[in-house]
Amino acid sequence: FEARMKRALPGEQFTYVVEPKVDGLSVALLYEHGRLERGATRGDGRYGEDVTHNLMTVRSIPRHLHGPLATCTALEVRGEIFMWRQAFDKLNRGLEAEGEAPFANPRNAAAGSVRQKDPRITASRPLDIFIYGVSYAEPDPFKGHSQAMEQLLASGFLLDPKDRKRTLERYRRRCADIEGAIVVCREVEATRDEIGCDCDGVVVKVDAIEQQRRLGSTTHHPRWAIAYKFPARQATSIIRKIDINVGRTGALTPTALLDPVEIAGATISRATLHNADEIERLDVREGDTVLIERAGDVIPHILRVIQEKRPSHSTPFRFPTQCPICGAEAFRPEGEVVSRCTNSACLARLKESLLHFGVRRAMDIEHLGEAVVEQLVDRTLVREFADLYRLDVATLAELERLAQKSATNLYNATQGSKGRGLSRLLFALGIRYVGEHVAAILAQHYGSMDRLEQAPEAELSEIYGIGPRIAQSVALYFRQPENRRQIKQLR
Ligand SMILES: [Zn+2]
Repeated sequence: FEARMKRALPGEQFTYVVEPKVDGLSVALLYEHGRLERGATRGDGRYGEDVTHNLMTVRSIPRHLHGPLATCTALEVRGEIFMWRQAFDKLNRGLEAEGEAPFANPRNAAAGSVRQKDPRITASRPLDIFIYGVSYAEPDPFKGHSQAMEQLLASGFLLDPKDRKRTLERYRRRCADIEGAIVVCREVEATRDEIGCDCDGVVVKVDAIEQQRRLGSTTHHPRWAIAYKFPARQATSIIRKIDINVGRTGALTPTALLDPVEIAGATISRATLHNADEIERLDVREGDTVLIERAGDVIPHILRVIQEKRPSHSTPFRFPTQCPICGAEAFRPEGEVVSRCTNSACLARLKESLLHFGVRRAMDIEHLGEAVVEQLVDRTLVREFADLYRLDVATLAELERLAQKSATNLYNATQGSKGRGLSRLLFALGIRYVGEHVAAILAQHYGSMDRLEQAPEAELSEIYGIGPRIAQSVALYFRQPENRRQIKQLR
């Protein structure tokens, strides 16, 4: 790279900037007189959708630049919208708790959030931006790339001193020569897991804008920058079986069980397949050799099938039209990607529901783990939530691997969960779309289960923070005589 630079501009010295290449969605932000006027997605060097209103909700994108840059008549900033891995995990847990499909990876989550039709949804997503360029400035106040980035950060792209992005900005370094740049590249690669967001490589840029200008660009890339992609954390393995799990909301989720394979220090034996559409899109079949990728701490996903290695007798995977646990019909509503078991008494759903009922953020019943729930349901000791409270120590002590002492603990934990309050009970019931936050709003608004049970759908949807979809789901839930009977049992 340096040799090429030297050939292009003989006899000149170069200073470089090394930047992490954050894996997200590229956007361009146009500021006029310091005011954010337009924001668009960018892909393959072209402008994509206008997402101005959505980008305005991202906390670390200033609507107004402060400082000297506010005087530029026009300034176009390039950046990558991304999600911190921790925030991504939390978002996915929330989506799952509300019965929605989680995102495959932080990049998809960031892209999906920016492309939302409703800016309020974008606003609720934990998005951040990593800026990496100025494509246009009038008048142009910048001499160097690093100087431009510093000024932009100071004018609003970096928040308070506790902003986590400071850790990321530490990876952006100015180097006096190419050797220094190489050292920094290696350092970023070695510590990529500590960055806290997905980062698929580094970019080395010539710092001086004036040199950049003379170097120019090809039709695709600027000549003054070079990207170095980290070796991908991928491996191939064979799918032994495609397993279908049934979740609390009845959702049928497929998982690929793989021959164990080592990727970046972790042994991988399963990969997510998300839903029927994904299986169809990839055309994955049992027995296929597949390329899998592990990004961060996320469950690995399948990139593609290696067709040449497909066994000759292989047949396309047929997504079950029946629940693999209870045999009831699985239904996939028009326009949705998830099929669900239609049997509300499905034992798989019951087990998941009981587990959810007992989690810390719901009724907080310690010791109510998977092994216990499994036995309680299989031995027909529990068929609904209220049954949990009818169990006595003697019955619990008969369960396998549950000593007298643990049985007493579980009993006490269960009885002790009776006074958790309306909000947590609502969350624990596992009503579709009613996560912790929605449960709190409903509890606050109605104050009692009786009043909530009577609430008509139209009234529910009037409440601030309750959309029509939630209102419909809550009203539907309380219309079912079986649900009302079960709640009555809990009093
Ligand atoms: Zn079922």
